[in-house]
Amino acid sequence: MNKIQVLDITTVNKIAAGEVVERPASAVKEMAENAIDAGATKITVEIKNGGISLIRVTDNGCGIRAEEVKTAFLPHATSKIREISDLENLFTMGFRGEALASIAAVSKVELITKRKEDTLGTALSLEAGEVISESEAGCPDGTTIVVKDLFFNTPARMHFMKKDSAEAAHVTEVVQRLALGYPNISFRLINNGRETLLTPGTGDLKDVLPVIYGNELASKMVRVDCEKDGVKVFGYISKPEFSRNNRTMQNFFVNGRWVKSKEIQYSAEAGYKTMLMTGKHPVLVLSVEIPPMMTDVNVHPQKMEIKFSDEKPVTSTVFWGVQNALLAEPIAREVKSAEIKSTFKSESKPFNVIKPKESFEQIFKKEEQTFDFFSQESEALFTPSKESEETSFFDDNLSEGELESYIISTPHEEKEEFDYKVIGQLFDTYILIEHDNELLLLDQHAAHERIRYEEMIRDRQIFGQVLMMPEIINLSATDGEMVLEHKETFEKLGFGIDAFGQGKYAVRQMPDDISEDSVENTVISILELIKQNKNPEDIMDKAFFMIACKGAIKANHSMTKMELQGLVKQVIENEKIRTCPHGRPLMISFSKKYIEKEFKRIV
Ligand code: ADP
Ligand code: MG
Repeated sequence: MNKIQVLDITTVNKIAAGEVVERPASAVKEMAENAIDAGATKITVEIKNGGISLIRVTDNGCGIRAEEVKTAFLPHATSKIREISDLENLFTMGFRGEALASIAAVSKVELITKRKEDTLGTALSLEAGEVISESEAGCPDGTTIVVKDLFFNTPARMHFMKKDSAEAAHVTEVVQRLALGYPNISFRLINNGRETLLTPGTGDLKDVLPVIYGNELASKMVRVDCEKDGVKVFGYISKPEFSRNNRTMQNFFVNGRWVKSKEIQYSAEAGYKTMLMTGKHPVLVLSVEIPPMMTDVNVHPQKMEIKFSDEKPVTSTVFWGVQNALLAEPIAREVKSAEIKSTFKSESKPFNVIKPKESFEQIFKKEEQTFDFFSQESEALFTPSKESEETSFFDDNLSEGELESYIISTPHEEKEEFDYKVIGQLFDTYILIEHDNELLLLDQHAAHERIRYEEMIRDRQIFGQVLMMPEIINLSATDGEMVLEHKETFEKLGFGIDAFGQGKYAVRQMPDDISEDSVENTVISILELIKQNKNPEDIMDKAFFMIACKGAIKANHSMTKMELQGLVKQVIENEKIRTCPHGRPLMISFSKKYIEKEFKRIV
């Protein structure tokens, strides 16, 4: 063994640098965070060759006092805390005082800085942590740090660098995260002389989203804003129809710091509940603000994992924030004219453009066959449409009486905030509803399936119906064994099943709406779920999905007017119902404006 001796400061710094500065992106992160701590409103990051040959970070922050410039590069030199108790109230990104020292130890650094109150600034250059020169300099307010030839003196680290483009991508990610976390700061990124990112710094996160995610996705995001139990959650999240196959577009911030957090991720995705198809993930930009005391900021700066002293208030505020934001969205997805045109393209004759008069005569003729309930209705159900005056679309061609019978009002015990009229059934599959200058098309199967599912998860069980005559089903020995073993699960799902001898089982009770000839299949499907899922909650959830679907009204099924109204009422009154359990849209809408445009009534 060699003699034991204390390492010299340069070696200590080089080792420390390995922890703080892993790659160009980590140096960028540290320097940009320093600029944020310095109160900058504009931060420009410039890189060449992925940041290996050059990183330049320019800010318009408070600058560094001339006498302190050299000190800033000493290990453990910080202006942000004085003693350990300061950590409990920390609002800055940095506090360890090791970033500048570490970066300088493994590169060639040039710094110019000036405070607003000073007339002259300071220029300092270092190489491998050693000061080469220091002088007064005329320069703008703020700080510019240039880092050249990163890792020039640590070839082992250099060896780990990826292609320039990969390193540049890491830098971009860092800048994007900071830009999302600090909408009040204008960030600019220049890569090999080309500007690749510029945020306006308006303070409104909504203005940052298009820069990071593009206009289309940004326009499909909804605002989250929730405060509960001392926790504030705000941000933007994608609507359920715009989901992704992975979570790379999820960004979480706690007190401005970008963090990885399974707690936030799970509770946010739980807020979407049944609105997303399995394997799909929302785009999330969520900022959580909590008293600094409730987090442990002392975790390693590169790990970015957050620890909450009590995660309950955080997860619950995130969950409710997300859920409320989604529920506040309009009930139906609006169909834009472009989408309609593209749908119609596939068919040779999309519209038969007939003169209104003829068209209505035809509609009414057809109605007599298809919408048979119109003729059976009692007078009381037909109330004059208050919109009939303004529905100029009809007025020349349709008498008031005709119009009244065309649009049926719903019974008046409805919650009046959602005033609507059930018009009828289309293709025996969709329910037409007039609501607030919109024509809504509700998918009857998806809607009924969803209603059933909501009832099931509310009760966490299905109330089966006792059969007059038991249904006898055949099961293999192992399956039969399993049915008896999981008798309780089956009972919660509405099934009462007993052994009947010789591979036969008697189903004495089962969920209503399940047809008798699909009982055997349903039981086998439930057994599959039991085999595939360990968690009883998962089994129940999936079984609820399946039974809700099996028992729901199918497409191509003619319904009476009362049935249509009953179904629509249940959808409208339950604000949770937005999508069917599998995440398909439940309703689409055509605005009156769109229809009038198509008929060239308005331009
Ligand atoms: P920390 O950020 O943990 O305090 P750093 O090594 O990153 O440690 O920075 C050391 C000190 O240098 C900071 O505490 C701050 O006072 C000063 N400093 C660094 N960068 C800037 C900047 N861009 N503007 C003003 N002051 C800065
Ligand atoms: Mg710092």
